[in-house]
Amino acid sequence: MLTAETIAEARRAVRTARGQGRRVGLVPTMGALHEGHLSLMAAARAECEFVVVSIFVNPIQFGPNEDYQRYPRPIEQDLAACREAGVDLVFAPSAGEMYRQERLTSVVVRGMTEGLCGRQRPGHFEGVTTVVAKLFNILDPDAAYFGEKDAQQALVLRKMVVDLDFPIAMRFCPTVREADGLALSSRNAYLSADERERALCLSRGLEAGRRMIAEGRTEAAAIAAAMRRIIEAAEPEKIDYIEIVDPHTLGPVARVAGPVLMATAVRIGSTRLIDNILVDSQGNKIRMNDLFL
Ligand code: AMP
Repeated sequence: MLTAETIAEARRAVRTARGQGRRVGLVPTMGALHEGHLSLMAAARAECEFVVVSIFVNPIQFGPNEDYQRYPRPIEQDLAACREAGVDLVFAPSAGEMYRQERLTSVVVRGMTEGLCGRQRPGHFEGVTTVVAKLFNILDPDAAYFGEKDAQQALVLRKMVVDLDFPIAMRFCPTVREADGLALSSRNAYLSADERERALCLSRGLEAGRRMIAEGRTEAAAIAAAMRRIIEAAEPEKIDYIEIVDPHTLGPVARVAGPVLMATAVRIGSTRLIDNILVDSQGNKIRMNDLFL
């Protein structure tokens, strides 16, 4: 496995692989790798002869009062996990390498970034789209792999790729969960035992919403209210949002008449957790890739 800390080294490694006719697959991550990340690597491995994982805790996507400083950075463990997963190149730059000068340029996707997580995290998606555009330019992948777990991020990045004509196939992989339903997240490491138990309210609330749709309920407000009751029963510190939106626009829907994204962000202790499920009008879970067939 190759590792690169500089942009020049990473470009060289990718150029060599391309010269050998290998298809390049990129899995962008912030490290603290878990089974969710490994599932993206496996998807990349299945389609590409050269798998690149980037590990970069991107400072410009964190707000001033967020967890940039305390975000876990177990780099040795992460490198071992990548080696085990058959990754070909890990690109792990410093913040100084990625942002060598004062940055005057941003990539902004309007319209899809003001709601949901964008409301409580102003500037977050601008940081995400800007760093992913940089990673795409540095690593020149044929395909890039993202998790449905961060649904808004995935849909916003897909819009960026369409609007700016990045020649990259976007692949979205299903959310990997613990046996009891909790979506895997690097931030789960912050949870105490009691908080870990209470964190189940996200997946339980979403599943209750899904069941209501499967039973034929269509009024989004009533479904969201039922989800809220379940989530509130776990006494979260704060509910940032519980929303039922159109997955193409991320705008709210009044009635469930087509595919909907049910999404929630909740603070448990000092940890902000997000989760979502994507369902059709019958309440069947569907894959994000299927939205764009
Ligand atoms: P992160 O390191 O949290 O920035 O995540 C890197 C990538 O892994 C993103 O595309 C995430 O959506 C994806 N990811 C994170 N958690 C999961 C999960 N539980 N299942 C599937 N993908 C995930």
